[in-house]
Amino acid sequence: MFQKILIANRGEIALRILRAAKELGIQTVVVHSTADADAMHVRLADESVCIGPPPSRESYLNIHQIVAACEITGADAVHPGYGFLSENAKFADILAAHNITFIGPSGDHIRIMGDKIEAKRTAKRLGIPCVPGSDGAVSDPKEAKRIAAEIGYPVIIKAAAGGGGRGMKVARNEDDLEVALATARKEAGAAFGDDAVYIEKYLEKPRHIEIQVFGDGAGKGIHLGERDCSLQRRHQKVWEEANSPALNAEERARIGKICADAVAGLGYSGAGTIEFLYENGEFYFIEMNTRLQVEHPVTEAITGIDLVHEQIRVASGGGLSTAQENVRFRGHAIECRINAEDPRTFMPSPGTITHFHTPGGLGIRVDSGVYSGYRIPPYYDSLIGKLIVHGRNRVECMMRLRRALDEFVVDGIKTTLPLFRELVGNSDIANGDYDIHWLEKHLAEAE
Ligand code: ADP
Repeated sequence: MFQKILIANRGEIALRILRAAKELGIQTVVVHSTADADAMHVRLADESVCIGPPPSRESYLNIHQIVAACEITGADAVHPGYGFLSENAKFADILAAHNITFIGPSGDHIRIMGDKIEAKRTAKRLGIPCVPGSDGAVSDPKEAKRIAAEIGYPVIIKAAAGGGGRGMKVARNEDDLEVALATARKEAGAAFGDDAVYIEKYLEKPRHIEIQVFGDGAGKGIHLGERDCSLQRRHQKVWEEANSPALNAEERARIGKICADAVAGLGYSGAGTIEFLYENGEFYFIEMNTRLQVEHPVTEAITGIDLVHEQIRVASGGGLSTAQENVRFRGHAIECRINAEDPRTFMPSPGTITHFHTPGGLGIRVDSGVYSGYRIPPYYDSLIGKLIVHGRNRVECMMRLRRALDEFVVDGIKTTLPLFRELVGNSDIANGDYDIHWLEKHLAEAE
């Protein structure tokens, strides 16, 4: 087991990882920017190292500073959390070269999944169902038209290097296609420095369903069920639940096994998420995230498995703590992402939190790094906390969520709490009847 883990992240996820390490009796080091000197994870860590000024590229993305912090403190492993360097293959390689364990998969696996064309090719080879589309990059309009005619309109053009929903263009007919192709390539080139794009069938009303997987790096793989993250705004997840209101146990077992076998076949190590669009009873692979996800707690709630413990255990060579046949799914869990944003315009609302009171009681978990008197720095993303509610079934979970939202107080800044208070009372949400476009339509109608 590791002696000392360095946490290369901030906010609620830094605290989340710190808690897991403490439970396992592992010393903790956190790195932070000058803007985060007062953060909760800095206060609670055994050691902390200031690695630079507020902008992320000079601190949380500064590989040299982070490696230096490992050497100074004698950390033998790094947990990257999500975002920042968590899917940076070069970072994983550099740590390995310094004999420091990256708590995550190999640099090569990160690289494959980071290139969407390569990821899709790999998924197909491993037997994962994919969205029909081009086999690789497409640049010639004639070829694009031929492929689109074959798979049928509408189609979507996506950047190979894509991320955060950028560089995607939908074409509804042949007339749109040429412009969509040129625009997508231009945008991808500007955003990612790589203008390679590919074509896929555009699904009109899918749900976003993702499967949590774990590999031991030696040919074993398991799945921990799915999360339904269909409630999104601008491709950003807002509300996540497990299980999905749309899946039954049979479908879960079927897609779960496909994913677990794929991870095993790949020799993948650690936590991963295989993301799908789901429409008319069919799953279509869109990408694999090779890290812990923001929404991992809903999976923890229904399986009782601590995903960060599991990551640390696998990275230290201890293998998986459980076999597939021992994984049980109990009850229902929902996570609400509480952002420091205006609940209507979603404009960031940094500032000082004058009063912070979190709900409690059975089935309630709040993961947050903020406190009364905390000043939210304007440099980072606006997530200030996650409310995770668990119940024996979806009805009980919703009942408890409504009560917990009533109790939650965040004064001094704007937050997305009012949006969740509204959603929890909506009949489509109560019925679990929503797709990836539902939230944006709902917001547009409410204007
Ligand atoms: P990114 O890495 O940029 O997030 P993804 O491939 O994960 O890109 O897609 C992001 C979102 O874009 C999906 O959650 C979905 O809303 C939409 N999307 C992607 N591919 C398709 C498709 N083939 N049909 C319909 N919507 C899609």
